[in-house]
Amino acid sequence: MKLEIRCPFCESNHPIPLDFDLVYHCECGACYKVCSGNNIENSMVHIASEIWSDDELAFLMATESQFCDVVIERDFDRLINLKQELDENFLPRFCKYDEHGDLNLVWIKREN
Ligand SMILES: [Zn+2]
Repeated sequence: MKLEIRCPFCESNHPIPLDFDLVYHCECGACYKVCSGNNIENSMVHIASEIWSDDELAFLMATESQFCDVVIERDFDRLINLKQELDENFLPRFCKYDEHGDLNLVWIKREN
């Protein structure tokens, strides 16, 4: 059994992210990151800063329009637990995160 995550925008599969501090990129332009449930806003800013330059971001934040699509997958920790049961070598990095908190997978894609 192979566990993967699926991009909600283009449906391509990716390995489960191991480094929870990194923002990952999908080939369709979406970015995703693991974040703890009590820190979603900060993580969204972190992901957005990978997609847009500071100037663009400041402009976009100032306008009220919706400029990106966001998908939040809850219960990501369940997937991590399952993965750990199947693969003893699987060692996710929990550096800044409370490992007792719930984990979410946040996807952001720039609107065309
Ligand atoms: Zn994608």
